[in-house]
Amino acid sequence: MFIKTIKISKKIIIFTIILIFLLTSIILFYSFANTDLSNSFNNTASDENNNLDNSNNSNGNNNSEEKNDFIKWVDFNVTYELLDKTAKLDIDSHTQDSNIKYNWIELLAYLACRNGGNFKNFKQKDLDTLLSELQKGKTIEDLTKNKKYYSYYYESYSAALGGFIGNYTVETELEDGTKTSEEKYGLKAFLPIAKNYAFSHYDDFGNSRSYGFKRTHLGNDLMGSIGTPIIAVESGTIEHLGWNQYGGWRIGIRSFDKKRYYYYAHLRKNHPYAEGLEEGYTVKAGEIIGYLGMTGYSIKENVNNINVPHLHFGMQLVFDESQIDSANEVWIDVYNIIEFLKKNRSKGIKSDTSF
Ligand SMILES: [Zn+2]
Repeated sequence: MFIKTIKISKKIIIFTIILIFLLTSIILFYSFANTDLSNSFNNTASDENNNLDNSNNSNGNNNSEEKNDFIKWVDFNVTYELLDKTAKLDIDSHTQDSNIKYNWIELLAYLACRNGGNFKNFKQKDLDTLLSELQKGKTIEDLTKNKKYYSYYYESYSAALGGFIGNYTVETELEDGTKTSEEKYGLKAFLPIAKNYAFSHYDDFGNSRSYGFKRTHLGNDLMGSIGTPIIAVESGTIEHLGWNQYGGWRIGIRSFDKKRYYYYAHLRKNHPYAEGLEEGYTVKAGEIIGYLGMTGYSIKENVNNINVPHLHFGMQLVFDESQIDSANEVWIDVYNIIEFLKKNRSKGIKSDTSF
């Protein structure tokens, strides 16, 4: 009898433990799903006609108590084809002074709502419908007010692409030394490999790396010859310059809007950087910042431990400063961005003080 009682108690204890475990898992799952949007709707094919979620936007959730409510992850899978198409629509509508001015980031965010953030599911008719609605005078706000994730996509893509298209100034120096400047609208970000230098790459984002500790590859390797000039993709402030055991001689540049951190690594042994660069300095898009090499994978400085010369190019998105240097850094796959930036290559403009 005594033994039997103990048996029952054991069963109850095991049952209780399982129950607590299950409840905790459920609670954790829901709190995670609420904060990590990208994971919670990766499988949503489309939220068209979904009118259920307006409550989220209508009760003013910009209170200070919701400071934690920033984007935690972005799956950037906009294809080269769509970057190209929407960029053309944006640039042409501005340079040809059309009545309707397109904003490529708005177009992409709308399309992401239609394809659940997976651009492999892109349908041309979605873009055609959007353009014809805009031509009829509808605004993007009208067309997206019932789209639950529009603001998420818009904010994510603005963080990734915000510095790429817009107004910029071209300065030309005449023979007599006078300078003229011209305002233009278009693609103002550059490929990180200088013009007339060959390189190759493939989509290696997320591949595993084993130096140091097991981790995934958070960038794109651009294979080229040692000494190839490396170009600043976008203007910004140098946040890091110097040796890092993984990246070797590396340079990290933050865009002026603070949302993009560009990471250029494995620069050349002995002479990694363009002259005069220091942390805190600003660089201009199109300027030479360093030279391709094979340094890194060493605690000791100035060591070539990389097998194949290449530039490691990475882009980190920053939605909140707490994401910097944390386990929650948001790095995106830049393969398609690199393909897209092949349209705009720089020989390396001279830096000046016109900033
Ligand atoms: Zn790499």
